[in-house]
Amino acid sequence: MAAETSPLDDAGVALAPASFASVIVDIPARALSEPFAYAVPSSLADDMAVGCTVLVAFGHRPALGYVVALADTLAALPGTESLEASRVRPIDAVLAPPSCSDLFGPISFWMSREYVAPLAECVRLFLPPGGTPRLLKGEDGSYRLERAATPEVHERVVSLTPAAADFEPSARATRQRQLIEALSYGPVTTRELNLLYTDMSAAVRALERKGVVRVDERRAWRGCDEDTTLSSARASAPRQLTAGQRAALDAIGRALDDNAGDVILVDGVTGSGKTEVYLAAIERVLAQGKSACVLVPEISLTAQTVGRFRSRFGASVAVFHSRLSAGERLDQWDMVRSGAARVVVGARSALFCPLSNLGLIVIDEEHEQSYKQGSSPRYHAREVAAQMARVGGFPLVLGSATPSAESLSRCRAGEYLGQRWSRVEMPERPGHATLPTIIVADLRREFSSGARSIFSRPLHDALMEVVERREKAVLLHNRRGFAPFLMCRECGCVPTCRHCSTALTYHERTHTLECHTCGAVCHVRPYPAPGSACPKCGSRYLAKMGMGTQQIEDALLAMLPDDVAVIRMDADTTRGKDAHKRLLEEFDAADCAVLLGTQMIAKGLDFPEVTLVGVVLADYALKMPDFRAQERAYDLLEQVAGRAGRGNDPGRVIIQTYLPDDPVIRAVAAHDRSIFTEHDAVQRLDACYPPYVRLTNVLVRGARADRVQAYIGALARRVGEGLDASCAALPESERPQILGPTACVIERAKDRFRHHFIIKTPLGFDVSSIVSRALADIGTQQGISVSVDVDAYDLM
Ligand code: ADP
Ligand code: ZN
Ligand code: ZN
Repeated sequence: MAAETSPLDDAGVALAPASFASVIVDIPARALSEPFAYAVPSSLADDMAVGCTVLVAFGHRPALGYVVALADTLAALPGTESLEASRVRPIDAVLAPPSCSDLFGPISFWMSREYVAPLAECVRLFLPPGGTPRLLKGEDGSYRLERAATPEVHERVVSLTPAAADFEPSARATRQRQLIEALSYGPVTTRELNLLYTDMSAAVRALERKGVVRVDERRAWRGCDEDTTLSSARASAPRQLTAGQRAALDAIGRALDDNAGDVILVDGVTGSGKTEVYLAAIERVLAQGKSACVLVPEISLTAQTVGRFRSRFGASVAVFHSRLSAGERLDQWDMVRSGAARVVVGARSALFCPLSNLGLIVIDEEHEQSYKQGSSPRYHAREVAAQMARVGGFPLVLGSATPSAESLSRCRAGEYLGQRWSRVEMPERPGHATLPTIIVADLRREFSSGARSIFSRPLHDALMEVVERREKAVLLHNRRGFAPFLMCRECGCVPTCRHCSTALTYHERTHTLECHTCGAVCHVRPYPAPGSACPKCGSRYLAKMGMGTQQIEDALLAMLPDDVAVIRMDADTTRGKDAHKRLLEEFDAADCAVLLGTQMIAKGLDFPEVTLVGVVLADYALKMPDFRAQERAYDLLEQVAGRAGRGNDPGRVIIQTYLPDDPVIRAVAAHDRSIFTEHDAVQRLDACYPPYVRLTNVLVRGARADRVQAYIGALARRVGEGLDASCAALPESERPQILGPTACVIERAKDRFRHHFIIKTPLGFDVSSIVSRALADIGTQQGISVSVDVDAYDLM
């Protein structure tokens, strides 16, 4: 395609040696799913390179673009068959040199096709942080790129010069003596000097004049001071690897040698030393002069995890997570781009940082749903990383104690879409650490014997033993707030949000009902407080149902002696920037403590003193209307159970439930995953769910229900026609299917009606291009928004 087929003006533009460029224009519209061809004037030849940001004319307006390919002739660029070289417009200016990962071209194309997303949106993932780049028009009419609002910071580093060896400060110059002593271990920044010795600047100046020290200014990398004080972060590699660890490293080593883009699943029980495997594999990759990218779920991107990587690889580790400030994010990104960082640890978006010569991607806890992005482009980091491995020819290592059904089935098949997938098991923990004992507390029996407490007898007794022995316990409760909802005992109504069709959550501390979908808050008082009233029938008997973490915290405080620290960790107590880290440090420092929290405490924590893990009510996780709920529940229970007995003391896990016969509970209790996976596989196969098929969710939203329905009806028909045309040859049983359109489970959110349909297609079927074409045919409509979610997880 060409931007606009107007001929080059008669004066002509002298073309550069690489005369034509493929440019992605930065305008996010689904229709712009292809790059455009532009000519490269010879005046720009010196600055031109793949990855440059350029200024181009698009229609009648100036636009930003990114060069994805260069060629000597127009015909050598893809998709330019019908273009005439003389009608291609020139690039107007080069605005910024290349700064992205080498993979940005092929991967952003692939993502745009695969996820039916505007190409510009996919490219933007690869751009430096600091918001979408914009064009600014200068006074002289020329355009330039808007600069990031956060300026770089510099620091001054003081070091001894060779002359220092022969220098002896005068007897009275104590400050100079201190300074030389401090610098004798290596260079120190002025900021650190001033922290250590209130004010050193006079001494620094004096010695600088004498030529004994020198002061150099250098770029400071904000965001590198996450170094942890947690006692369990260890620096050195273990002396001996377990047999499982060796097997995993061998498999990764072979994949590194093969350069075939293989995927290796490290299937290791919690505490089996998967992180050690990643560290050793990365060491190999770094020794080959390559770089590595490690993805960790946002929730376990704690100081503890980061500390383990920093203590092994030092200053060459950059970190990306959502709690970084804008300046920190920019600096970490620049640290990667400059080559100062060769290892990146981060949440899913770290995949797109500008690592050059990438040699390995690791995805820890690969089954985690946080790897799926909820907004466009709705990518899954596992799939993007697999594509990167394919394109770059390097291995992708997935790690999990509870691998996803998708990964397990691909490993069983040995391949997926032409890529090799294999699995290595690590069934044991190193050294003396053994798997914890699991006890299932049947709440039905507790209830029928008259017990009404939150804590069953076994859990109560076990907590008391922990207190007696001055150990630590972790309690999981996957509901924040106080009571999840209020219910009218007269009419049975549950107050729901006025803007969304979701039940409101009750927060005791603030006496508010809050919508966890849109954040709306209303003030109420449940029975027996005066003024409580059912919004429907006016009855006073608005009762609290279920329970949240706040209620359990109160019960713990009432039950345990005062010298036991009770630490609650949930979305409400971890709002501040370092709150998460501070609470964990408090838990680490306490001599006897209970850490109570939502799923954020289930993952990644490695505290050897934890001997008891309690699950207050497993049933919340089990009974969600989603075919993946059981997989998630199994993961959550297995993970939280894995927090127990990581040290030399054996661990105990007590799971309270009304559903002791559920396959998830039985599998966790017996340390036998197959009890759950076999049951789950049969259910999914019967119902035709992933991993046996792919699901694509097409969601249409708008303020008027009738218009939403009309639009989605037309869209579904058009998609259906496209499917019929492309699979006429398939047998009936393998044909794609459309379910719906219907109203979503959450019918209304933020005052917008939501309708959807789901497309079920066989694996490997290109549903994306059919949906793209249908969308292009139907066109957009004012007030109606469409989102396409390929391999959807959220179907509500
Ligand atoms: P995972 O990531 O599988 O949960 P970790 O890598 O966190 O497991 O390891 C659990 C604990 O075992 C850590 O404290 C780690 O330092 C330790 N560890 C790992 N490998 C070994 C080994 N080969 N020998 C001794 N200790 C080890
Ligand atoms: Zn709401
Ligand atoms: Zn009522």
